[in-house]
Amino acid sequence: MAKFTLDDADDDPPVATARDKRKRDDGPADAEDEPPRARGSAVAGREPAAPGAEAEAAGRRGPAEEMANGEVEGGLSVQIDPDVLDCSICFESLRPPLYQCQNGHVACFSCWSKLSNKCHICSRDAKFARNIALEKIVESIKSSCSYAKWGCCKFINYAQRDAHEEACLFAPSVCPISNCGYRGFTGRWSGHFLTSHSSDVMRFIYGQPFEVNIEVSVPFLVFLGEDDHLFLLQNNNLTPFGHAFSVVCLRSGNLNWMFSYQIEATSRKKPENRLQLKASVTNTRQWTGIYPSEAFLLVPFDFCHSSNIVLNISIERYAVV
Ligand SMILES: [Zn+2]
Ligand SMILES: [Zn+2]
Ligand SMILES: [Zn+2]
Ligand SMILES: [Zn+2]
Repeated sequence: MAKFTLDDADDDPPVATARDKRKRDDGPADAEDEPPRARGSAVAGREPAAPGAEAEAAGRRGPAEEMANGEVEGGLSVQIDPDVLDCSICFESLRPPLYQCQNGHVACFSCWSKLSNKCHICSRDAKFARNIALEKIVESIKSSCSYAKWGCCKFINYAQRDAHEEACLFAPSVCPISNCGYRGFTGRWSGHFLTSHSSDVMRFIYGQPFEVNIEVSVPFLVFLGEDDHLFLLQNNNLTPFGHAFSVVCLRSGNLNWMFSYQIEATSRKKPENRLQLKASVTNTRQWTGIYPSEAFLLVPFDFCHSSNIVLNISIERYAVV
């Protein structure tokens, strides 16, 4: 069994120490920073971290720590230039099947299928063949996530690293305000909203109900919790029935807390008609105009008052045990 260090960043390798645990609880030191592409640690021949909730993974000691402490038996530590693990044509991570010309020039399956038997490097008519040895090496390498520094303890097959990081809850979230493009982390949003969108955010205290008056054409409202968690009240027009309201939390990392919410709507014309929803908050890393899928409150158009709907909302926070 061999251990590798992917030398793709100037940072120290991420080690899940008690200090990192504190950092995870508090959030990253500076959300303005692009999270550094951490020097990934990789082990050949190990199974990936057991599947399960990110919070669970964050709470236990990860393989990166095991390696940092030298607890992996029979390992061989080497450094590897991550560029050699990328296709030299499309620069994507190499994943089987892999092909090489008679001179050993490697192409991924996608690029090979477009080469028409002409090598991209030696430019000759080529007889491509599978490179089984390289496939085995690529398959055996396990890498830590680039967002290990922010708390992700997942240990991923190198070929699946890009896909994992695309969906990793510890990667930064993009600000939901259109055309902003700011990338932020959980617990570090208030500075950005106070300086850039102070009129677009409403602060609240967990467990204390607050009233919102939403214009029916507005797709979402932004709420900021006292701990800087960012919530969106989604408003989906479900013609011909009414508006579906739900709350999502835009978050990256810091999954030590979970949230539930309550929405109440009262008809202006018939105040005895009241609707209420109690549900758990859905976590999402990006807001992409998603429709509520888990739970929502459908408020009939009849509840609107001059194109506005008044809602009473409360959001509760509870610790993950
Ligand atoms: Zn390629
Ligand atoms: Zn060639
Ligand atoms: Zn990750
Ligand atoms: Zn923004």
